[in-house]
Parts: sequence; structure tokens; C-alpha cells
Amino acid sequence: MGVDWGNLDYLIIDLPPGTADAQQIFAKAIPLAGTVLVVTPQDVAHLDAKKAVQMYRRAGVPILGAVENMSGLTCPDCGKRIDLFSRVSDARSIWAMGIEKLGDVPLDPAISQAGDTGRPLLVGHPDSPQSKSFRAIAEKLRLKLEEGAT
Ligand SMILES: [Zn+2]
Repeated sequence: MGVDWGNLDYLIIDLPPGTADAQQIFAKAIPLAGTVLVVTPQDVAHLDAKKAVQMYRRAGVPILGAVENMSGLTCPDCGKRIDLFSRVSDARSIWAMGIEKLGDVPLDPAISQAGDTGRPLLVGHPDSPQSKSFRAIAEKLRLKLEEGAT
């Protein structure tokens, strides 16, 4: 590997979706504390995520849970939630495989703006529903990793 990461609390590696070479190499060659899946509320996303669940289970990598991204959109005029995708049937979802839902992240233009400007959403909009969701997800992961480490 040849990289000195120093003394880190956590190293989070963001991988593209799917079960291609990158995921397989990480699952097999690196001692991971766990993996977190990200799914959108679509049947096709859950179908792919199911393959990932099977792959990580075969490789013995703990699955800490999954985050539902693009989990609806809040109408800026009336605050009503708009579902962007047809809902996933429970039986066809990864939730039916015993994967814990860590949280929902609704779509918000502020998230992509934060990516564009480099100013994190949690700094620019700390009280947005998405920031609250990110903090809650991070806290769940912290607790799970602490439990696993003992
Ligand atoms: Zn509206």
C-alpha cells in the first residue's frame, strides 16, 4: 500500500456502486471494520445492493447498515414531501435481508451546492434536515464501531 495515514480515528473509503473489482479488492484484501451501503429508493438500486450484501457477507465483512439517499424532496413552497421514485416493495428490498436502515437523506439542492463550493453542508446548513440526518447516521456508526471494537 505504501501510504502512511497517520493516527486516524476513522478511514472512510467512498466506492462507486456495484460489486466490481474495487469492491472485491477492498472486501478481500483489507481488514475492514465494516461497510455501509447507500441505496436510493428504487427497485433497481436495491437489486444491486442485494448483490453487494451477498458479496460482503461471503467475504465476512460486517455490514453496519445502509443509508437511503435521495429519500424524497421537500417542496420549498409548502414543505410537503415529494417521492421521486416509486417506492420499493419491502420484500424486494435489502431491508428484507436484515440490513438496518441507518437513516434517510432527502434530496436538497444545498447538498450539491455544498459539493460545488467545498463548504460542507454541516457547516453551511447545520440545522437542515439533511445535516441532522448525517449527524444521526454518524452517531449510529460511531456506536456500532465502538461496540464492535470491544
Ligand atoms: Zn408544495
